Amino acid sequence: MLARMTPFVRRVFCVVLGIIGAARLRAELSPEEKKLADWLAGQQEEMIALLEKSVKIDSPSENVAGVRAMHDLFAGELQPLGFTPRWVPLAPSSGRAGHLFADHQGARGQRVLMIGHLDTVLPGGRFVREGDRARGSGTSDMKGGDIILIYAIKALHAIGALAGSQITVAMTGDEESIGRPVEDSRRPLIEAGKACDVALCFEGGSRNEATTARRGASNWELEVTAPTGHSSGIFSAAMGSGAIYEAARVLDRFQTELRKLPGLTANVSLVSGGAEVTEQPFGASATGKANIIPARAIARGDIRAVTPEQLDQAEQLMRDIVAQHLPRTETKFRLERRYPPMASGPRHLEVLALYDQASRDLGQGPVAGNDPTRRGAGDAAFVAPYCGTLDGLGIFGSGAHADRESADLKSLVSQSTRAAVLLYRLTR
Ligand SMILES: [Zn+2]
Repeated sequence: MLARMTPFVRRVFCVVLGIIGAARLRAELSPEEKKLADWLAGQQEEMIALLEKSVKIDSPSENVAGVRAMHDLFAGELQPLGFTPRWVPLAPSSGRAGHLFADHQGARGQRVLMIGHLDTVLPGGRFVREGDRARGSGTSDMKGGDIILIYAIKALHAIGALAGSQITVAMTGDEESIGRPVEDSRRPLIEAGKACDVALCFEGGSRNEATTARRGASNWELEVTAPTGHSSGIFSAAMGSGAIYEAARVLDRFQTELRKLPGLTANVSLVSGGAEVTEQPFGASATGKANIIPARAIARGDIRAVTPEQLDQAEQLMRDIVAQHLPRTETKFRLERRYPPMASGPRHLEVLALYDQASRDLGQGPVAGNDPTRRGAGDAAFVAPYCGTLDGLGIFGSGAHADRESADLKSLVSQSTRAAVLLYRLTR
């Protein structure tokens, strides 16, 4: 048809098509959704004040009193909104405080789980505001996200749209360093995930990307033992090869084989070997003379897989390599599964599509899914097998897990507005 038009008519036709297309991309917000956006637009200073209060609480994962104080602060924000907050303590032997859970009872719409965390990696307690940025431990990871989560709910409450919705807020107190055993620490979160349809997680966000997949993180450990004696006996049938040659063989094979798995990384973080090895939680020391065959070698590291299946495959590979040991050596291999990988899937992509639409409707542009290798492990992965899960809905920031951590304060309002519209649509 276009070919039969005169150039002028063709140009007019194309302009009209373009206008129709743009209008369709920018659907209207409902009057209620417009009210959400208007209410949040006036909340920036209150949000910054709450962020400041929370960042001034020193709450690294190991600080039990600090994490508890974070619970008290946020429970106090949620209770007046009709939530029933409860403190879920962890066993003192875990060295971690506990979690904040809060339920809003209702029967309408989808059951939504909103995830944050109370702890930080580094100690903090200092909040520095520099114009539109705030610096301090937890500003971006993830007290800023917690504030966005709370204000998305506050917005629904403010316009009278919260009643009847089924929402659970879960803020863990040990996200950055999970209390052992992991099964106990994460049982309440997994139970909450099983009871929900959709999980929204407020780890660090960005304008055009949200998280539908992330790699997991597990720790592994190798301990090689071998007969020790005069070094002149090494390579003999009686003495074998010593513990260090065997550890070196295993590590070299790990490096050669594991790198073939796409997107997977496996780091060796510490190696120690000798006649005697003394281990500490994050270190080891060894002694050994040149004329003694080493009796012991240890190595530790982590492994980050893209999918649960890939982690299984990597573990099997590692166990097979360990099993092909040099003569007279013996190796114990342990893999401790910490954060599971979060594989992308249709249910997560459905939530992403809703978030993308909310963002477009607000005039904030499209939002796409992410490359899982560019996102660290996180709590969302524990619930992802049970419900449609979307992460990365938090504050824009940089320098997480480092002294230079900072956050973009302007994104408090824009991110909570996108989250509020998404939450509103999910809970109708
Ligand atoms: Zn975090």
